Amino acid sequence: MRLLIMGPQGVGKGTQAALLSEHYGIPAISTGDIFRYNIKNKTELGVEALAYINKGELVPDELTNKIVKDRLAMDDAKNGWILDGYPRNASQVEALDAILADLGTPLDAVVALDADHDVLMERMRKRAEIEGRSDDTPEAIAKRLDVYAKETAPLLAIYDGRGLLKTFNGVGSVEDIQATIVAELG
Ligand code: AMP
Repeated sequence: MRLLIMGPQGVGKGTQAALLSEHYGIPAISTGDIFRYNIKNKTELGVEALAYINKGELVPDELTNKIVKDRLAMDDAKNGWILDGYPRNASQVEALDAILADLGTPLDAVVALDADHDVLMERMRKRAEIEGRSDDTPEAIAKRLDVYAKETAPLLAIYDGRGLLKTFNGVGSVEDIQATIVAELG
C-alpha cells in the first residue's frame, strides 16, 4: 500500500499515519520528522532547513525532494509506505511523480483529513504547550496555515482528478477515524 496523507496542520495526520503504518506494516515517512531529526543532530541538511522551518516556510524543493527520493529507495519502503507532509506544492507533486515512475511504484490512494479552522487552531495551541516545537510560535503557525491554503490545498484537486483522493473528517475519536479510513482503503 502506497499512500499520501494530506491535510492542514493540527488535523491529526501524524496520529493517523502512525496507526496506518501499524495496520499495514509499512513505514510512515514524515518529511517534517526527517528535518527535525537532522536539526537535532546538527547535520548539514538540518542547519540549512532550520531557518525556513522556524519561520513556518517551506524548505526549498531541491532539498526536500532529495530526502524523499533517498528515503523511498530504502529497503523498508519496498512493500509500501505512507508519506506524511509531502508533497506540499505543485513542483513536489511533479518530483514525486518522477520518483515513483523511476521506482515503477504508483500511488494507491491519497487520504485527506479535514477540520474547521477553529478546531485546528485549538489543537495547535495545545500541541505547542505539550511539545514545545521551535516552529510552534503564533507567527510560524499562522504562516504554515497560509502556506497550506495557498500551496498545498490546491493539490487535492490534482489527486482528485486522478481518482485517488479519499477525504475524511478529522474531527472525532482517533479510533473511529482510523476505522473509517481502513474500511475505505480495504
Ligand atoms: P510538519 O512536521 O509536516 O508540520 O513540517 C514542519 C516543517 O518542516 C514545515 O513547516 C516546513 O518548514 C518543513 N517541511 C516539512 N515537509 C516539507 C515539504 N514537503 N516541503 C517543504 N518543507 C517541508
